[in-house]
Amino acid sequence: MRAGSLRRGIVSGAVLIAAVACLAATSPLSIDAVVDREIAALVATYRKLHASPELSHHEEKTSAFLAGELRAAGFTVTEHVGRYEKPGWSGYGVVAVMKNGPGPTVLVRSDMDALPVEEKTGLPYASTVRTKNDAGQDVGVMHACGHDIHMTSLIGTARVLAALKDQWHGTVMLIGQPAEETVDGARAMLADDLYKRFGKPDFAIALHDWSDLPAGKVGVCPGYAMASSTSVDITVRGVGGHGSRPESTKDPVVVASQIVVALQTIVSRENSPLDPAVVTVGSIHGGAKRNIIPDDVTLQLTMRAYKEEVRLRMIASVGRIARGIAEAAGIPADRAPIVTVVESEVTPATFNDPALTERLAGVFERQLGADNVVKKDPVMGSEDFGRFALEDRSIPATIFMLGAVDPEKIKSSAASGTPLPSLHSSLFAPVPEPTLRTGVRATSAAVLELLGGSR
Ligand SMILES: [Zn+2]
Ligand SMILES: [Zn+2]
Repeated sequence: MRAGSLRRGIVSGAVLIAAVACLAATSPLSIDAVVDREIAALVATYRKLHASPELSHHEEKTSAFLAGELRAAGFTVTEHVGRYEKPGWSGYGVVAVMKNGPGPTVLVRSDMDALPVEEKTGLPYASTVRTKNDAGQDVGVMHACGHDIHMTSLIGTARVLAALKDQWHGTVMLIGQPAEETVDGARAMLADDLYKRFGKPDFAIALHDWSDLPAGKVGVCPGYAMASSTSVDITVRGVGGHGSRPESTKDPVVVASQIVVALQTIVSRENSPLDPAVVTVGSIHGGAKRNIIPDDVTLQLTMRAYKEEVRLRMIASVGRIARGIAEAAGIPADRAPIVTVVESEVTPATFNDPALTERLAGVFERQLGADNVVKKDPVMGSEDFGRFALEDRSIPATIFMLGAVDPEKIKSSAASGTPLPSLHSSLFAPVPEPTLRTGVRATSAAVLELLGGSR
């Protein structure tokens, strides 16, 4: 090496060192640095939440814990947000706000409730909780839908956003929502004047862990992502009597059976094959003894659709078919079937605002790597997150899927053909660290993007 080039090398080396030192002094803290710092504590939090699940409408301790964590992260927290129609139920909604100058408001929602499932994962932190459900039955309780992953991701996101406060402007509104599994929690929070009290957000985002997506990946689904869910009860009223004398009765068991079969023509014959729809009769009850024709039979239905006009047409069809079959059987008009839509169990379709979803997909690709962002197909399952967008969808909203499963298990399931445990299974067991890491990184990056931050 010649002297001249050596001297140039020394000089440029000095400049480089000075530049690195300068960068270190001013370089902003990154999402990943905060996640690295917090991940062990978040995994511990997850295990704690997993071991102490509470059923829908009973999220008392869970909501208090979440509120405490968000308060500790520097948010202004309001508890007991939510008003149900049913007397005696308390709203355990949590609203945590951090204002940071002028700018948009971003709502981030986690649900909090668990399911009446007895856990069989055998994990060291498995739930052993048992309780009485609202019907008075003794049931096991488990976070079998992963709402504990969602809450822990929310806590992690709160910590990241607090640590990176110099990198965004606006307001963050974190929501701990009760009663997602019964799809009345979001409605209860909105009915308690959520947006009047805390401001109407400009965007709403959420995640849901996914049982067939590897941990480390996220899924996006622009447009309709989940179906609307409508619960309908039918009471078929007949004229009861002795099982040996059908001529003196109007048998509601036969009428109900015909109704169950005829209801299947709603999807197959009345609906466009291009509009997804489901009619399922999940429960049928009537009678007490072989030789008694009962007075009535009750049916419980769930119906799924994306388009509201399809949903409304299906409801009308159920009524028409039930009444028509009863009339054909000679049941008097004053004993016509009673068809009731259970309004407290109705939830609209989840529509992911396409522009927002595509924007966040780009953010996720930059934060997680393009290979870790996949397009997912819509499902006929339901969620009440869509309610936060309001009926007129004036708030762009999107929910993304969070991979939660060991990638090796997905490979071996594909090879063997044995399906993996689904959400709501007593064996569903997300892998905590990579799932939480990805949930916090993706959510934090999304909020920073929407609040004008740089990463
Ligand atoms: Zn669920
Ligand atoms: Zn869920």
